[in-house]
Amino acid sequence: MNVWQAESFPVSLHFPRKVGESMRRPLIVGNWKMYKEPDEAVGLARALISAIGGMEGERDVVICPPFVCLQPVFQVLRDSSILLGAQNMHWEAEGAYTGEISGAMILTCGCTYVILGHSERRLYCAETDATINRKLTAALQCDLLPIVCVGESLEQRQAGRAEEVVLGQMEAVLSHVAARDALKISLAYEPVWAIGSGKTATATQAEEVHGLMREFLRQQFGRESAAQIRILYGGSVKPENAADLFAQEDIDGGLIGGAALNAETFAAIVKTTG
Ligand code: PEP
Repeated sequence: MNVWQAESFPVSLHFPRKVGESMRRPLIVGNWKMYKEPDEAVGLARALISAIGGMEGERDVVICPPFVCLQPVFQVLRDSSILLGAQNMHWEAEGAYTGEISGAMILTCGCTYVILGHSERRLYCAETDATINRKLTAALQCDLLPIVCVGESLEQRQAGRAEEVVLGQMEAVLSHVAARDALKISLAYEPVWAIGSGKTATATQAEEVHGLMREFLRQQFGRESAAQIRILYGGSVKPENAADLFAQEDIDGGLIGGAALNAETFAAIVKTTG
């Protein structure tokens, strides 16, 4: 049985509590990438629950372990308000797609969120704006909350093309999204040169791009919706730089990679949002 048929939907928090600029509820997402086997993942999830201990009431906290860890981690998280996400999904509900996993399948594992279009998938798994677009449509159809990643490479930034690349990715991926679905989506600005590199965009650099992304959302979905959609920053976020980044007007939280693999470090980042 699908866990969503068995349980009441554990999310009272899909959307920000209040409407208006700066009133978006912070969202912190841990991307565990291809780290942690099921036993380790369960241990980390338990450690996170005690390290975060109730703080998630003021913000949404999501962890995205590898596929094989989703079910066991969900069993640990079900009595907490930390939510579960997957790192990817296929656009078809089922079929002859060897090695793939559908949105419907990750829902049965207890996922609420799904990361789409991470730059590592674009780089190593031939993911394109077109495939991300199809995945986004599929995620929305099965009531998963997508976190759509965009971001420029170092070469593109140095060529002065960061804005063009990020807005081009947004246009390609979001152009068919109906206004009624826009509020289910979160975006993550992840400059590729900052991911796993220890080089973080400065708060000013990041806010500059987030501001442009917000303006794109205004034009695409209207002022009120754009004011509610969360835009996360990702790229070497640590407890030392998180507060500065999250204090920016258009930065509504973070997509955290390396620092999400340690409960104390991730909890310290979560704490900076409150
Ligand atoms: C990520 O995986 O999305 C990421 C931002 O990684 P890191 O925090 O390690 O740079």
